[in-house]
Amino acid sequence: MIDFHAHLDLYPDPQATARECVARDLYVLSVTTTPSAWAGTAALAKGAPRIRTALGLHPQIAHERRGELPLFERLLPQVRYVGEVGLDGGPEYRRHWSDQEQVFSRVLELCARAGGRILTIHSRRAATHVLDALETRPGAGTAILHWFSGTQKELSRAVDLGCWFSIGPAMLVGDKGRALVTKMPHDRVLTESDGPFAQVDGRAAWPWDVDQAVGTLAQIWSEPVDAVRSRLLENLRRLTKELPANS
Ligand code: MN
Repeated sequence: MIDFHAHLDLYPDPQATARECVARDLYVLSVTTTPSAWAGTAALAKGAPRIRTALGLHPQIAHERRGELPLFERLLPQVRYVGEVGLDGGPEYRRHWSDQEQVFSRVLELCARAGGRILTIHSRRAATHVLDALETRPGAGTAILHWFSGTQKELSRAVDLGCWFSIGPAMLVGDKGRALVTKMPHDRVLTESDGPFAQVDGRAAWPWDVDQAVGTLAQIWSEPVDAVRSRLLENLRRLTKELPANS
């Protein structure tokens, strides 16, 4: 199983959560919300080769943490994965829009300059702006739109731009999310939990709750669960081969 977007460092007991991921043989992309959280979060993955740590600067706190961009730049050569980054167009974050745009644009510029990275991207109520930014800087790497919630039109544009998608159980609860998933290319889909932020059955999602998303994908794609599992693993392998294994 694959959880390509989890906030391991934000669980009440991050070590225990990481150990449980290892015990369950889960592939995890452990994302961070600030560059200063990267070192401590990466330490959770020590001795756990299936857990990779992404360097992030979350759009919802871009205005408070933009001063950490130099640290982001210093750490970037050590990482292959970047996230959580992106833009949030929700009303509560709109007044910090220019900070968000500057941070995201700088992140993409740095990634392009570094030869490209695998990025897990937040695009809540901002899909068009995120796609505009990605289009401007194609060298930034491979973009995985996490929990995509844009329109069908934005989705086809994202597909045309080469984006991937990570989808979790929370996204698959409603008709809108399911309708979007139907249009995503099967070879560019991964699963995610977005735990502990996302909810599953009225509680914080665990990384291994991605299993529920695998079951729903099997229904949507009319494929056996095992076939879906193999396809997702094959996708992960292909994704991680697209960039040189420099770190
Ligand atoms: Mn997240």
